[in-house]
Amino acid sequence: MSVFIPERLFGIIGHPLGHTMSPRLHNWAFEQYKIPAVYMTWPTAPEKVKNFMQSFRNLPISGASVTIPHKLSVINYIDQLTPRAKAVGAVNTLYWRNDHIVGDNTDTAGVSEPLRPHCSQVKKALLIGAGGAARAAIYGLKSLNIKEIFITNRTKSKADDLAKEFKISVIDWDNRGDQHFDLIVNSTALGMSGKFEKINPMIMAEQDSNTIIYDLVYNPLETALIKEATEKGCTIIHGIEMFLHQGIEQFKIWTGKNIEPQAARHLLMKHL
Ligand code: NAP
Repeated sequence: MSVFIPERLFGIIGHPLGHTMSPRLHNWAFEQYKIPAVYMTWPTAPEKVKNFMQSFRNLPISGASVTIPHKLSVINYIDQLTPRAKAVGAVNTLYWRNDHIVGDNTDTAGVSEPLRPHCSQVKKALLIGAGGAARAAIYGLKSLNIKEIFITNRTKSKADDLAKEFKISVIDWDNRGDQHFDLIVNSTALGMSGKFEKINPMIMAEQDSNTIIYDLVYNPLETALIKEATEKGCTIIHGIEMFLHQGIEQFKIWTGKNIEPQAARHLLMKHL
């Protein structure tokens, strides 16, 4: 019997880490490519981030995923930010380049890549929400050269701040249903399992089969927004695509290899 000895170490830090699917995705992909590496979970309380980053610097760790609540705080302990991580102001990926710890943000690709096949038909997009995911979403939408990007948020001042920073336009929360959009991206918590599960963040009267709906919420997969959009014949992109594509991009950065989306999607769906 041969013993598996990993040569490269990866993992995810967050708090709480709960049922993260990242180890499943990356360990499966390492296996597919016969890369002798392992991806672990490293639950890290907020006050331990500094200690973790000391370990990252001193132990043979090749890369890490970073999730809530550490996406901002790790920036204090790295050597370099990629342009997209700088623009978003948050890091979800760590890797080494020439003895420097680099912080990147692949959540942006999690938004842009599932939309890329559709982007030629998108002239006017609405982003609902103005939290952490919204920042990556705006960067992702801008990278697709979508001409008109609007943002709406329950707390208007947050939408105003993002609109100013990223040079996009604001629509009042109460008026978000008043016009047709080619694309609507939900980055609010509305639709998530629990108390928000039955709430659709969008008023859908003006939308039709020419509207693309990308709901970043993936638990549940079929959200209230997606159910109503499906009835209207809209093109649907599920939230799992964001998770999948941010992970595909991480794996490419760490290994130079491409994860095949369909096989990886199948793997994740089995475990949702
Ligand atoms: P966040 O920073 O806490 O932002 C939450 C957003 O939801 C804010 O815009 C907030 O509006 C809005 N919101 C919360 N409760 C609301 C309510 N009752 N009515 C209207 N708006 C409400 O969270 P985040 O990190 O941006 O994540 C947002 C969602 O994106 C998460 O729920 C998660 O499902 C999804 N997400 C998915 C992925 C993925 O891989 N698919 C990755 C990251 C996030 P206010 O500003 O008015 O409070």
